[in-house]
Amino acid sequence: MASAQSPPAKKSRSKAVLNGDSCTEAVNGKTCVQVATNADTPAEDPAVTLFREYIRIPSISRGDNYLQHYAEAVKFIQTVADDIGLPHELIEVIRSYIFTVLAIYNNVEHCSQVTPANKIVLITVEGTHPELKSVLLNSHYDVVPVFPDCWKYDAFAAHKDENGDIYGRGTQDMKCCIIWHLEALRRLKKSGVKFSRTLYITAVPDEEMGGMLGMALFIKTERFKKMNVAFALDEGLANPTEAMSVYYGERSAHWIEVTCPGNPGHGSRFIENTAVEKVEKLLRQALALPTGAKDQVRMSNATVHSVCGVCVTIYRLEGAPCLKLGDVTTINVTEIHGGITHNVVPNKFVVVLDMRFSPHEDHQEILRMVQGWLDEAGEGCTLKFIQESPKYPMTSTDDSDPWWRAFSTTCDKHSLKLEKEIFPAGTDSRYLRTLGIPCLGFSPLNHTPILLHDHNERLNERVFLRGIDIFVDLLPALCNVETTV
Ligand SMILES: [Zn+2]
Repeated sequence: MASAQSPPAKKSRSKAVLNGDSCTEAVNGKTCVQVATNADTPAEDPAVTLFREYIRIPSISRGDNYLQHYAEAVKFIQTVADDIGLPHELIEVIRSYIFTVLAIYNNVEHCSQVTPANKIVLITVEGTHPELKSVLLNSHYDVVPVFPDCWKYDAFAAHKDENGDIYGRGTQDMKCCIIWHLEALRRLKKSGVKFSRTLYITAVPDEEMGGMLGMALFIKTERFKKMNVAFALDEGLANPTEAMSVYYGERSAHWIEVTCPGNPGHGSRFIENTAVEKVEKLLRQALALPTGAKDQVRMSNATVHSVCGVCVTIYRLEGAPCLKLGDVTTINVTEIHGGITHNVVPNKFVVVLDMRFSPHEDHQEILRMVQGWLDEAGEGCTLKFIQESPKYPMTSTDDSDPWWRAFSTTCDKHSLKLEKEIFPAGTDSRYLRTLGIPCLGFSPLNHTPILLHDHNERLNERVFLRGIDIFVDLLPALCNVETTV
């Protein structure tokens, strides 16, 4: 794919872009991407051009040449920070931390793939009272892979159509965020605005791999501890309506492998106590889900859709306007393995369940319920955790909370209709919240279909540009919050 061979962002091109000049020269044999081609075409906003340039770096976690592309993303962010005049440093999360994280998250298989250190860009805007606790804006620079044939345009070409929709992997998740943060700072710096608290901006790798070799390692470093973070912002999701979503918590992912043993035999015979009978009992329970009266009420508002293959159910909350996906616990059967040939009844089947526990519920109670399913399924069924997650704390959205008040009053100023939600999947916010740092997930993307990880992920340039306006007000509001810390 042509984009996969795109050269790193060249400083000469970035300079022209960052200064807001029209770029009219050819760079590396290519004409600079966005040029006012005739007198009727307005020049593109330099922030949009910068955003598109970032999208063109195919920084897929563990993709082909991922280290080279990670390095390009890091270089790009450093170049922008230099252009704005923001001091930055590079933090290498070293392998010795991996063993700590291994112990915490017990994910040996994933960690064993890693050889080099990962790099985190840390940008600092020192406050006038650096003794106060700081504010952190975090984003990840890695993106998920694409199915090129399913895209209308090359996913790493940052094509902009006639409506201003910019197509590209990472447009929503979450390359928009750091450009908002940096462009807002560029404007604030020009107007001489100072913050009382120190503001940090981080660009981390590997969020899409679970963050265990990115944010989870970073928070173990002395450098992170020295940052003394009081409050953080991370990514949110788009919202197709007028409203904007803000995320104050996350569900906990539990991936469970259940082994159901049974009697083997010839495929022509009546065989008692087979593995598949146990699988059938287990699936009947898992797909029904009810976890008590509370969930019965929730499920009465949900419609259950069957999907072909082994990805069996999704719960859609069409009739439940008060509940969102993140508020409820979901279970999907994601893998079923077993059998050796067509005429032998196997001695076991293995079923993998992807369970997402709502932070509103008692996780121990859910786990007891799952164990009960195994007991009922039949003798010898065993359970192994592929991934086990703690229950993550939720961030206050009460008006008495100074951080929420600063956030929400700024949103009011921009007449934003906020929808408070639990993030249905995982982000790096969970690592921060686990440390007791309040963290909101916020990507101000309204009137935008949710297309993260999907084909044709895109973002309209007007929505993107409005995000900068919002952050121009949000950053001083947060960095001047008056609390006792
Ligand atoms: Zn993301």
